[in-house]
Amino acid sequence: MIVDVKNIVKERKIKLKEKVENLKVNGITPKLVVIFASDDPASEIYVSKKRNMCGEIGIEEEEFLLDKNVTTDEITSIIHKLNEDVSVHGILVQLPLYKHLNENKILESIDPYKDVDGLHPLNLGRLLSNKEGLISCTPRGIMTIINDLGVDINGKNAVVVGRSVLVGKPIAHLLLNGGATITLCHSKTNNLKEHTLKADILVVAVGKAKLITADMVKEGSTVIDVGINRIEGKIVGDVDTEAVKDIAKFITPVPGGVGLTTVLSLLENVTEVASKSLK
Ligand code: NAP
Repeated sequence: MIVDVKNIVKERKIKLKEKVENLKVNGITPKLVVIFASDDPASEIYVSKKRNMCGEIGIEEEEFLLDKNVTTDEITSIIHKLNEDVSVHGILVQLPLYKHLNENKILESIDPYKDVDGLHPLNLGRLLSNKEGLISCTPRGIMTIINDLGVDINGKNAVVVGRSVLVGKPIAHLLLNGGATITLCHSKTNNLKEHTLKADILVVAVGKAKLITADMVKEGSTVIDVGINRIEGKIVGDVDTEAVKDIAKFITPVPGGVGLTTVLSLLENVTEVASKSLK
């Protein structure tokens, strides 16, 4: 079955909106600040999606649109000011940055408690040690889908294809923390199919259209397709959805799948940070 992610997101948006309204009654308006220092056209689309969903939910959003001459130090000094600003609950640096910028230095300058993209080493470390922290948005969104479907993780074989810091590594740790036995595959993995065929839960985050074909998927499994590929003007995932949908119990679509929960998770993170300022 192809998962109706739109519906999952619709229901969670209603709950999130209620939380935001409740915070506003208590004098707190959750606020996200986006730093945009990039000429990547896809990133512009992602930022506009974030802006629109903030508007829908009632979260305040501000953007710093920085031109090509901006330096790493100028960005970190903006971030330091935002770190000190109590009206700001979430700071997000849209990646990829202009090539000349020092991504690590910029990400590490964010206050870990406002790091709503969950990419600060402190938050990644907390995830590794199974402690509470801000979880990066795509992995958090994947867990939202898995939990909403009622898929049991404990004791299951979970295979993640792709080992990026943004998706593959954090989702592998979330599944591990949930009690799954994990296999983390990447471009150097020999005989990928041998691994994917054992997966009760298969997460694919590579960026290669139709990398996962029907013969690589276990009957009755849950397949989460994270990939975004533009083929002949169409957006497709990493999994051959049409062929796999009759083998897997659940498969997420692309478009209209994980991407929707990624934006939702960002706003859930912002709202959770704002909620903490109530205490
Ligand atoms: P990435 O940083 O480029 O990482 C890709 C990973 O795939 C790497 O670990 C790479 O292995 C591995 N890989 C490459 N070819 C492979 C192969 N033939 N077999 C097995 N593994 C292979 O990408 P990313 O940032 O994780 O993103 C992955 C995909 O998800 C992209 O299409 C991206 O657009 C999409 N994405 C979607 C969302 C969303 O919200 N829907 C969010 C983030 C990303 P090595 O490490 O060995 O190079």
